[in-house]
Amino acid sequence: MKALVLGSDRTLELVERPRPACAAPDDVVLRVVQVGICGTDRGVLLGKFPAEPGVVMGHEAVGEVVETGRGVTTLKPGDRVIINPTLYCGLCDPCRDGVLNFCENKAGNEIGIDRDGAFAEFMRLEERFLHLIPDGMSYDRAVLVEPLACVLNNLQAAAVTADDRVAVLGAGPIGTVTALAASHFGASVRLLEKDPFRRDAAIAFFEGTAVTIEELASGEADVVVDTVGSLLEQACALAAPRGRVVVMGFDERATAEVRPLELLQRGLRIIGAGDYNSQVFGRAVRMARHLPLERIVSHHFGLDRVDAALRALGVGEGAAYAGMKIVIEPGGAA
Ligand SMILES: [Zn+2]
Ligand SMILES: [Zn+2]
Repeated sequence: MKALVLGSDRTLELVERPRPACAAPDDVVLRVVQVGICGTDRGVLLGKFPAEPGVVMGHEAVGEVVETGRGVTTLKPGDRVIINPTLYCGLCDPCRDGVLNFCENKAGNEIGIDRDGAFAEFMRLEERFLHLIPDGMSYDRAVLVEPLACVLNNLQAAAVTADDRVAVLGAGPIGTVTALAASHFGASVRLLEKDPFRRDAAIAFFEGTAVTIEELASGEADVVVDTVGSLLEQACALAAPRGRVVVMGFDERATAEVRPLELLQRGLRIIGAGDYNSQVFGRAVRMARHLPLERIVSHHFGLDRVDAALRALGVGEGAAYAGMKIVIEPGGAA
């Protein structure tokens, strides 16, 4: 099969790999129908996030079951599924305490980072990490369930309610999903974005809704979500007294200056919620039935056109943002 593998020079290489087959009784092999390019993937290629050279990248995947191990009881060939790429062992102390996202055995099990992922025609995964796509839900919508799970995890950590004024920094796909979900919870939401392409995309997306789009931060918010990962200082400045600031974007190189006395005097809370706990994944699948997530998908590309896909995400000499959620279709773009 064809697969995109991370090279040691932080580029993606299209290579031939053996097609995976079921090995353990609970294994499932799926044909990858779509896989979103995540901000984390972009971060890996830009040197902002570590990953293992030689790995097949990609983790936001949906597909069709083609083969099941003899112990699989909930899935059969032909079923449409979403993968939950945040694997956990279920046996270590954090897992037994229910905090699956802090599993101690993640090394070698992070899909698309240090374990082969979904930028490939086929992939293998255990049954318990696959969720059925609800009847009638398109792949374009289902491919955004994993980002929605990340968003739910962070909104839950900040205990967002309908009384909150929420400011979301960054109108990329994650910022857009965050604004959509917070608004679904009844909060009043504004989305802040400096990039003109992404600002216009957000204005079009939220037209006719109560979500407002702004270029520069002003005023104050009870909850500030930094989906960029390098805006902690701006986020703290924007937070109202007793506000909650959520750090959500991944940026290994970002640093920030925080004044402890300001946290004390203004009662600010800085929240890092990490990866989602897999327990929210089912809720994300159900909630996706009510959110027009497919409208965030701007492009579909085949595996052989990954360079064009990355250019649309501003990766490469002179490239600027020209897309929102970019989806790879390993079987060839329709
Ligand atoms: Zn992701
Ligand atoms: Zn564990």
